[in-house]
Amino acid sequence: MNTASILNAMTVDVEDYYQVSAFEKHICRTTWAEFDCRVEANIERILQLFDEKSVKATFFTLGCVAERHPAMVRKIVASGHELASHGWDHRRVTSQKPGCFKDDVLKTRALLEDISGQVVKGYRAPSYSIGAENLWALDVLAEAGYEYSSSIVPIHHDHYGMPDAPRFAFRAASDRILEIPISTVSVMRRNINCGGGGWFRFFPYGFTRWALKQVNEREQRSCIFYFHPWEIDEEQPRIENLDYKTRFRHYLNLHKTHPRLGRLLDDFSWGRMDEIFLGPGQ
Ligand SMILES: [Zn+2]
Repeated sequence: MNTASILNAMTVDVEDYYQVSAFEKHICRTTWAEFDCRVEANIERILQLFDEKSVKATFFTLGCVAERHPAMVRKIVASGHELASHGWDHRRVTSQKPGCFKDDVLKTRALLEDISGQVVKGYRAPSYSIGAENLWALDVLAEAGYEYSSSIVPIHHDHYGMPDAPRFAFRAASDRILEIPISTVSVMRRNINCGGGGWFRFFPYGFTRWALKQVNEREQRSCIFYFHPWEIDEEQPRIENLDYKTRFRHYLNLHKTHPRLGRLLDDFSWGRMDEIFLGPGQ
């Protein structure tokens, strides 16, 4: 049953299983072409699920994935979803200088617009790698023509996070861009991620449902939820020689993601980022 009247943003970070930042030490970018591609088949399942539930979403897509799978990108757009940028080849913003970063986000935006025939307004940093140390990146995104970013998670984490950042959308870069952080719930003055990814697979579904309801009903705010195509793919090839933490985080409960997503789509109202945050009156 749909329990919330507030529209929440459903988002997908379009990348393949071997491109995740956690595998950087194990898989060199120069070998990516040797891996079996599974992203297109996984996106197909996601489009079917969204279609069944009548949900429109935002797809933050890597430039290098779009270049290899242009038909998939066109299908995403033809199905009524928003196409947005996830950078070219999943380099963390923290590892880039402003000039390289600008080239990356301009190149990705140009390619996505060329393939889709639509204006690309949104950006999400690979591994949420914008935080207190590199807020210059939001200025660069504004200069590159992006209208919003969804790249900050206001939590403590070993790989990312800006715990002091606002929990809800805020203007940045001298008011030129809107930053829309991933959803958190505040428990005893500590922010806990309830916006998806590995957390969605780790916590029981009841936690996510409770947390999103807190944000919708008590705080009267929209949530921002994200997942990856490889998170619904239990059959993906296993990468060998991973350390325990990386293996645990990547492969935990993959078989539960798809049915949980079905429940999540039923339990809340969902829409596109641009529709919710850039619409009239925002
Ligand atoms: Zn990513």
